[in-house]
Amino acid sequence: MKTIGLVAGPCSAESREQVLRTARELKEIGVSTLRAGLWKPRSRCGTFEGVGEKGLDWLCEVQQELGLRVMTEVALPSHVEKLLESGIDMLWIGARTTVNPFMMRELAESLRGCNIPVWVKNPVSPDIELWIGAIERLHLAGVKDVRIIHRGFCTMDSAPYRNAPLWELTDRLHTHFPNLPFYCDPSHIAGKRELLMPICEKAISLHVDGLFIESHCCPQEALSDAAQQLTPQALAELLNTLNVLIE
Ligand code: PEP
Ligand code: MN
Repeated sequence: MKTIGLVAGPCSAESREQVLRTARELKEIGVSTLRAGLWKPRSRCGTFEGVGEKGLDWLCEVQQELGLRVMTEVALPSHVEKLLESGIDMLWIGARTTVNPFMMRELAESLRGCNIPVWVKNPVSPDIELWIGAIERLHLAGVKDVRIIHRGFCTMDSAPYRNAPLWELTDRLHTHFPNLPFYCDPSHIAGKRELLMPICEKAISLHVDGLFIESHCCPQEALSDAAQQLTPQALAELLNTLNVLIE
């Protein structure tokens, strides 16, 4: 049986109870790294934009009480500053940030010499140069541990998915950076939990190092990305069907 990496957790941290309950249930199924967004880049105003800084305390509680590694998204140097002060284990840069070279330059500067893992999602647009450029800017700033997340691309025709996987682009990126850990985020590709399975299967057949999946204790009540999140129990069933062990 194949062993792959797994990062799982809610799209957004919504309350202390939701974060701790989800983390506890994920720990029970063998997950060792929790993701949860605190600063949420939402397309429309008036939607839930995250709990912000106060959620750092909840993530630290998960880290200290449950012994899980924790990670969140940063989009501004001020997020980086707060995150580095808090002792969170890792961070990721989202698709709406990777797309902008000015933002990447500022973020890379704020991460200069940083020695925690920095995960880079592909840009929203299907432009591999932007993705490569984002990674190069981090390398130039002396960030040693850069990892990659494929979350699909915004295209005119992504049906049935929310974001088109465009596997050939990821293949090219992988070839460009053969030594960087490469994960697939089937949740943001699928957009619907019912569609996760074939994407996970394809990613595993392409030898990704791991999966990055959204999981929430009560997906139907989630304040963002409700349709694509899985309960920890459903995630365990998915992994079982995929016939993989997780680390
Ligand atoms: C997320 O991971 O919840 C997120 C906002 O991701 P992306 O940047 O892939 O849209
Ligand atoms: Mn999400």
